Amino acid sequence: MRLPFLPIRIKIMVSVLFVVTAVVSVITFTMANLFHEDKRAYINDLASIVTLNTAQECHALLVGYRERLQAYARIIDRQELPQEEKAALLKGLFEDFPALVAVSQYKDGLEVATAVDERALAEAGLAKEAIEEQRRGDPLPFDRIQAGDVFVENSTLTPKLPTLTLAIRDVSASGAGSTTISAIVRLDDLLAITRRSGVFDISVTDSSGQLLAHPEVGRVAGKETIALRPEVVALDARHSAGITLEYLRNGARTIGGFAPVGFGGLFAVAEIPKAAAYLASRDLLNRLLLVALGLLLASAVAGLVWSRRITRPMEILSRATGEVAKGRFDIQVQVKSQDEIGTLASSFNHMASELKDRESALHEAQAQLVQSEKLAAVGQLGAGIAHEVKNPLAGILGCAQLSLRDAPQGTLLAKNLQLIEKETKRCKMIIENLLKFARQEKTILEPTDINRVVEDAIAIVLHQLELNQVKVLKDLAPGLPQIRGNANQLQQVFMNLMINAQHAMEGGAGTVTLSTLPSGQDRVEVRVTDTGPGIPEEIQKRIFEPFFTTKPTGKGTGLGLSVSYGIVKDHGGEIRSESPPGKGATFVITLPVLTDAVNHQAPDLPAVINLT
Ligand code: ADP
Repeated sequence: MRLPFLPIRIKIMVSVLFVVTAVVSVITFTMANLFHEDKRAYINDLASIVTLNTAQECHALLVGYRERLQAYARIIDRQELPQEEKAALLKGLFEDFPALVAVSQYKDGLEVATAVDERALAEAGLAKEAIEEQRRGDPLPFDRIQAGDVFVENSTLTPKLPTLTLAIRDVSASGAGSTTISAIVRLDDLLAITRRSGVFDISVTDSSGQLLAHPEVGRVAGKETIALRPEVVALDARHSAGITLEYLRNGARTIGGFAPVGFGGLFAVAEIPKAAAYLASRDLLNRLLLVALGLLLASAVAGLVWSRRITRPMEILSRATGEVAKGRFDIQVQVKSQDEIGTLASSFNHMASELKDRESALHEAQAQLVQSEKLAAVGQLGAGIAHEVKNPLAGILGCAQLSLRDAPQGTLLAKNLQLIEKETKRCKMIIENLLKFARQEKTILEPTDINRVVEDAIAIVLHQLELNQVKVLKDLAPGLPQIRGNANQLQQVFMNLMINAQHAMEGGAGTVTLSTLPSGQDRVEVRVTDTGPGIPEEIQKRIFEPFFTTKPTGKGTGLGLSVSYGIVKDHGGEIRSESPPGKGATFVITLPVLTDAVNHQAPDLPAVINLT
């Protein structure tokens, strides 16, 4: 399957996001998990501590109640005690035990005496009969109350006076049956214990799960029951420290600690809804997720910025490559990075400037080709005309010379004939030049010493140049390799250049310097430099054209340089002019040296180079 086109920077950003997401997810979930585990252990511990504390406090409170009643039972059971003293004792019990609402004494299951705090009942809007009525409707289960045992139950009649009934049975000291003391006690102290925690919902139940104490008195008065699971009921009051359970309470998951109070089968319960218990850990998870999201966002932005930094130079390079493909080779890329892209950019720049150089070389070669074609065309035309004109001209010259012999000296006829002879000779010379230019004869090249050719050429024109105050200097490099050349033709080239230099100086004093030097490994260079006015820039391109001359009619033919150009080309060389303004003219001729490997060509490189 092919992926759709995506810019590199998007790919880098996606990779960064992928890595960051993986790392952040692992960290987030590990941290959340650890925190959750820690929190769970903490909540469980806390639930069991709160439950155990509650159980201990309840135990201490109820044991205190029981001891008071036991002490009272022993005294009241004494037969020898007069009735008035018993009444005084009972009164003292109410003073000593302010939570006491009513107390009854039973002998072998039969009520013997009852004392009631009527004021407390009245404050709660109850009459003494209400208690009797309740006891009748719900008699004490004497068969279940064993000797030394306690019986506890919720005996609340109104929310205004929440109470519990505490019954103890004591075998009579006199041995005459058993005495049961039943007390109705206010629940205020027990309720206070259940109100201590602001986090846990604490309650105290009897063995059947009926609420005995709970911060909401209404629930106690309503005698609500909470279901105790079998593992709670099975808790051994003496050995078990309690358990923590997780269960559903009114449809909500709840964590609850249960511990036996160790008194009358009561249980202390501390509950907390799971949602509330894990509020902090959920909050932490939410924060972690937020941080993770922030991190992802930040890394997306950072990824984009970073990838843009990486891909920007590539985009520049890609655009530049497009420009090069369109033929703009003068383009250069500015990439400052020191990495592989920087290297690529400098290679690109190198390639572009190389292409530029080659393109200008190509243009020059094309121009030279055009020039050569032009010269060839003119050469053919000129050769044709010269051939036709050469013979009649020879006739005219012969006739003029013959007639001159017979013409009397100093006459007009003689003068005219001399003029005809002179001008015909000039025409002959032009025609000879034209024929040389067309070069229908084949140039024979042979090993030639270029310094020798230069010296011969100087020797021929030296006299003429010196007559015109032009000095000829030479600076010839010794030991130059031989060239393949035609000495006569090359001599003519150097003579043309020296005579042109002399003409350029227009009778003024000056120098012409001829120098030879090696050029590269397989060429020699001849430079002809003069101190004349130089060649104006606007005509530099035209001087090698045939018949181009700036000299007045009759003085120049415009063939000297074009003939020289043709000769040099025939030698496989180059001729060019250099004429910086005000510095005279220099003609540079480069010629290939004689070598065994002239025709040897290096094998082409393969078009595709495999880099392994
Ligand atoms: P001709 O000498 O007959 O004019 P050439 O082909 O030899 O023809 O020269 C062409 C033109 O090149 C000259 O007319 C002249 O303007 C220019 N020229 C050649 N050599 C020089 C030089 N050394 N200094 C200045 N101009 C030159």
